[in-house]
Amino acid sequence: MTTFTDSLRGYGHRIYQRDNYTCRYCGADGRTSFEVWLTLSVDHLLPKGHPERDNPDYMVTACNFCNTADNHYFTKYGLTFDGLTPDQLVELRREKVQAVRDKYKEFWEENVKPASE
Ligand SMILES: [Zn+2]
Repeated sequence: MTTFTDSLRGYGHRIYQRDNYTCRYCGADGRTSFEVWLTLSVDHLLPKGHPERDNPDYMVTACNFCNTADNHYFTKYGLTFDGLTPDQLVELRREKVQAVRDKYKEFWEENVKPASE
């Protein structure tokens, strides 16, 4: 059997499976199309150096945008992560990711979305 070393087919696959192939932040569902599945990535809920960082319980499915949406997240808000469950960590991060998405949505509506007549 082929062993894949990439995230989508390899080490991330079990994490995506557990999360129903759905971004934990925006709900993009990789089961709905191949294109969406291609955007899935593994998001770490804990900062570099944290002993549980690479524990799969603390790694979740995120689309590429949400994964990189707030990339100084771990340091810029002075948040503490110890003692929080994975679900609580997702909640904490979702709020910040959503704020970035909202700003991009505004840009998209003004500059990208075809004008309707
Ligand atoms: Zn997403």
